[in-house]
Amino acid sequence: AMGLLGDASTTEVLRHADAALYQAKRNGRGRLHVFDPQGFERVFDGVLLEIDLRGALAREELHVLYQPIVPLGSERIVGVEALIRWTHPQLGLVPPSTFIPIAEESGDITAIGDWVLREACRSISELNHRPDADTIFVSVNVSPHQLLHTDFADRVQAVLTETGLPPGRLRLEITETAIVRNREEAARLLQPLRQLGVQIYIDDFGTGHSALSYVHDLPVDGIKIDRSFVNRLTSTDNGVHLVRAILDLARNLGLHVVAEGIETRGQQDALLRLDCEYGQGYLFDRPLALPVLEQRLAVAEEAPVEVGAARIPIAHWLPRGHEGKASAIFRATAFAIRWLSDYTGTP
Ligand code: C2E
Ligand code: MG
Ligand code: MG
Repeated sequence: AMGLLGDASTTEVLRHADAALYQAKRNGRGRLHVFDPQGFERVFDGVLLEIDLRGALAREELHVLYQPIVPLGSERIVGVEALIRWTHPQLGLVPPSTFIPIAEESGDITAIGDWVLREACRSISELNHRPDADTIFVSVNVSPHQLLHTDFADRVQAVLTETGLPPGRLRLEITETAIVRNREEAARLLQPLRQLGVQIYIDDFGTGHSALSYVHDLPVDGIKIDRSFVNRLTSTDNGVHLVRAILDLARNLGLHVVAEGIETRGQQDALLRLDCEYGQGYLFDRPLALPVLEQRLAVAEEAPVEVGAARIPIAHWLPRGHEGKASAIFRATAFAIRWLSDYTGTP
C-alpha cells in the first residue's frame, strides 16, 4: 500500500497509506494499491459503516421484507424472497448492495445471515392468515462466506427444527459468481443442503460470465434469471434470443426458472410467450413488510382471477351498485402500498 506524497503532511500520508492498505485488502491480499483520493471518501464511508453495522443487529436496526414470487400469468403468490433492510440511525435506509459487501469483508455476514435465515423461517412458518398459507416457500439469499462454512448445513437444520418450517419450504439462493469462483467446493457444499430437503436456486443467473452449461452437474433445483436479461427483453433485439437460450437450457436440465425484476406488462408478455414459469418484480409487488404480505395473501386468496381487475372480494360486502367504487378504492390502495412499501415495507 502506498500513498501519493505531494506536499501532504505526515499524518495525511499515514492516513492515505492506511486507506490504500484498506483498499488493497478489499481487492484481495498480496496486491499493490496506490492511494486514490476519489476512492478515499468511499473507503472512509465503508469503514464507518462497518463500525455501525457491527452493532446494528443488537440495536434492532435490521429488518426483513418479503417480495412475492408468482406463476407468470396469475397473481397467486407461491413464495416470497426475504430481502434485508438496514435503517441507519443517521443515514436512514442503507441498501443491501452497499452493506452486504461490507459485512462479507468484515465477517459480520455470518451473524447477519443466520439472523435473516431464522427471522425468515420463523415468519413464514407462522403465517396463518389464509387456508393455504402453509404451502408458501421462503427464499433466502446466502452469501458465499456462509456457504463456505463447514457447519452451514447443520445451522440450517437447527433453524428448521427451531422454527418448525418444513425443509421443502425453504429455498436458498446462491449467486452465480459465488458458485463459479468456488466451483468444486460449492458442488460439495450444496450436497448436504440438498439432503436436508432444502431447495437450491442459482441467483443472478447469466451474470457470472461463464459457459451457462456449467450448471448441469450441480445439485440445484432452479435458477433466477437476472433482471438485466429481463430488461433486455423489450429493449434490444437479441434480448429475446438470450432469454430463450437460458430457458431452453433450464428445461433440458429439468430446472425451474424464476425471472427477476419484471417491471412492465411487455416484459411479462415476452416471458409468457417464452413459457417462463415464475416471475418476481415491481409489476406484481415490491418487497413487503410481513403485515402487508399477510394482507396481500388474504386478498390474493379471495381475488377471482387478477388483483386490480374489475371484481374484488370486498364488493361482496357492499350494497349493489357500489362494487365499482370499492374496486377503485382497492386499486388505489394497492397502488399506494406498492409505491410506499419498498425499503420501509410499510404502507
Ligand atoms: P437479489 O437477491 O438478486 O434480489 C433482487 C433485488 O432486486 C432486490 O434488491 C429487489 O428489491 C430488487 N427487485 C425486485 N424486483 C424488482 C424490479 O421489478 N425492479 C427493480 N429495479 N428491482 C427489483 P435489494 O432488496 O436491494 O437487494 C439487492 C441484493 O442484496 C440482492 O439481490 C441480494 O444479492 C442482496 N441481499 C438482500 N438481502 C440479502 C440477505 O439477507 N443476505 C444476503 N447475503 N444478501 C442479500
Ligand atoms: Mg436473491
Ligand atoms: Mg438476483
